[in-house]
Amino acid sequence: MMIVMHPDATEDQIHEIVARVGLAGARPHVSAGDTVTLIGVIGERPEIDRLGDVTREPGVDRVVPLTTPYKLASRRLAHDRESTLEIAGRRIGGGAFATIAGPCTVESREQTITAADAMLDAGVQFFRGGAYKPRSSPYSFQGLGREGLEILQEAKERTGLPIVTELMDARDVEAVCEVADVIQVGARNMQNYPLLAEIGRSGTATLIKRGLAATLDELLMAAEYVLAEGNPNVILCERGIRTYENATRFTLDIAAVPVLKERTHLPVVVDPSHAAGRRELVLPLSMAAAAAGADGIIVETHPTPETAVCDGPQQLHVDGFADYLRQVEAAAALAGRTPAAVATAA
Ligand code: PEP
Ligand code: MN
Repeated sequence: MMIVMHPDATEDQIHEIVARVGLAGARPHVSAGDTVTLIGVIGERPEIDRLGDVTREPGVDRVVPLTTPYKLASRRLAHDRESTLEIAGRRIGGGAFATIAGPCTVESREQTITAADAMLDAGVQFFRGGAYKPRSSPYSFQGLGREGLEILQEAKERTGLPIVTELMDARDVEAVCEVADVIQVGARNMQNYPLLAEIGRSGTATLIKRGLAATLDELLMAAEYVLAEGNPNVILCERGIRTYENATRFTLDIAAVPVLKERTHLPVVVDPSHAAGRRELVLPLSMAAAAAGADGIIVETHPTPETAVCDGPQQLHVDGFADYLRQVEAAAALAGRTPAAVATAA
């Protein structure tokens, strides 16, 4: 349930309710808005019963029983406006458009550093690259693992670009968190609930990709697993879903952008690369996503896509990436979004 405090509730009254929620064994989640403070009560029936009736407590306006399967991710129940996340000096959401770009996977030091340098020059906000790869066949390249993480660390130190990289196995969470500014949850792991909870506890920001056959509410419930652990930095990603159409690798569900925007305050990004499956389609899909109101894109690019060990046909050449990006940013501007760094205090 959600406890809505009076606009004139005092700090002491808010603390009192938060303490009572904790004493009942439930977890309070405080969201302080401009006018009212909401206290989400996260717990099962016994804890909620133990809390008892708080409607008449000083400072409480009303109590809203929640039947929705996600609360913290819900736009209506949280604060009914877009959240802006600040991650490693970059902003995403609430009008800030972020581009996450880099190769599908870390193949070598040279390939990764070349790509990272090019992305810095092009003006992206985050660098991506997988050290652990979820491959459909166990015989395909599985990623460089720890060695790949070290290469990403070098790319980060050299360019200053924050890193987005995938975590597949909760046993690697510490190693991945050492380099990742944003942990990617791959489409195939969207419903790996222990992994999501572990990421929630790690406190590192996360980007959750929609499962190949997941509904948008299932994506939001996946986000809720991370949020419920007290980690607010969750980005959602539409990356194409399975349909009968086979002209593209997956079918990009562009409607996911405005629908998610109705349902959640969390930033929504689009991955045109995995949806398209071939680079010729990446620009139009990216522009469509940006014009539809996405808060960013996550896109694959490689110095020599012809020799890439995975997803070569869909990766953009790093040469020409800046031109591509300017067109996407122009489309984002149509939807009122601009790339933004976190303002530093003068
Ligand atoms: C990727 O980003 O390289 C990737 C494997 O994506 P997905 O999980 O969406 O297939
Ligand atoms: Mn890929």
